Parts: sequence; C-alpha cells; structure tokens
Amino acid sequence: MSVPERYTTCSNCGTLKRPEKYNYIEIEPKKGNYQSQLESNYCENCENFTLWFMGRGIPKLDSDPLRPLNPLKKSREERIKVNKELKQNYEKIKNYSEMFFLVKLLFTFKLRKEKKQGILLEKKLAKLIKEDRERLNVPSVKFYKKISPKPKCLECGSNRLNKPPKHSCGGDITLVNGNITYFRSMSYYKKTELWLYDEYGKLEKTKL
Ligand SMILES: [Zn+2]
Ligand SMILES: [Zn+2]
Repeated sequence: MSVPERYTTCSNCGTLKRPEKYNYIEIEPKKGNYQSQLESNYCENCENFTLWFMGRGIPKLDSDPLRPLNPLKKSREERIKVNKELKQNYEKIKNYSEMFFLVKLLFTFKLRKEKKQGILLEKKLAKLIKEDRERLNVPSVKFYKKISPKPKCLECGSNRLNKPPKHSCGGDITLVNGNITYFRSMSYYKKTELWLYDEYGKLEKTKL
C-alpha cells in the first residue's frame, strides 16, 4: 500500500516536518469513561501535528457502509443544498403569487407545482434534522457536552488550539502532500504502548 507522505511546512521559515504518527500506540478512554473524538491538529507547543483529545463524544454512525465516516458533515452539506432549493422555491412562489390576475391564471399550474415541491423540500429538511438529532443523542456526546472539556494535545497537554495554526516564527503552517511512500499494512504495526485518557484528556501512558 502506498500513500502520499504529508509534511508540515511554514510559509515564513520553510521548516519541514512530518506529522507525528501513532501507529504503535493504542489510544483508549479509561475504563468506565466515554470515547472522545481524537483529531490530528497542529500543536504550537510541540511545533508539529499531533493527536488531540477533542472532548467531544462520537455521534452515532450510519450503518450503511456507503455513507462517509462523518455522517454529520455529509448531512450538513445536504441541508445547505435543500435550504438553497427552498429559498429558490419561496422566491418562485412569491413571484407567481404577485403576478397580475390574468397572467397569474396562466401560471396556476406552475404555482401549484412549486407549492408541492416546497412541501417536499420542507419534509426532506425536517428528516435530515431529525436524523442528526438522533445521531447526537448518544451517551458519549451528551456526557462531553455536559462537562465540555477543552481540547488537549496528547503529547504535551497544551490546550492552545489555534486555527489556522501559526509557527513560532509567525508564519502560517500548512500540510502538504509530498512524495508517495510505501508503508506496511496497518496490521503489521505491533502496538507497543497504551495511552489511556480520562474525561478531561489527561493521559496515562503504559508500555504493552
Ligand atoms: Zn516558521
Ligand atoms: Zn503539544
């Protein structure tokens, strides 16, 4: 298997770095704790992309394997699209309704069609909202929402998460795709460390 190697670069000083990798580390919540989302983010303290405890629960994923991993993102895109269509629909209905009586008669059919379409769009939107609410109605999401811990860098414990990230020299940090690297399949990596995080992202590291 091969992937393009990713590099962190700075717009000002050009520093090149490979993001931290966690192939050899098993990361789990402490026993009895809920799973939090983990993200690769730039840590200004570590001066590299590291893994962050985000202090957010995991929304329920769709069972449909064809859906992307982040159903909320996909759903947000769909909602934006439906909202746009609805707006156009309202505009058309408004235009037809404001037409001079005789002209309006000619457009009766079109007006009816648009009204029907509007009802369908509103139903679609309500369905998307309901699905999202169900995805978020899981214990881990509710738990972290209640205590709302700050995101934390798992490497150094910093909670300074700036987007877009800045390098210590003041330049902008970006991730770029470099050359293709060949890497061994994930199953090859033997986990040698276990990192356990608590509900505030505090770590306990043990060797396996
Ligand atoms: Zn720099
Ligand atoms: Zn850090």
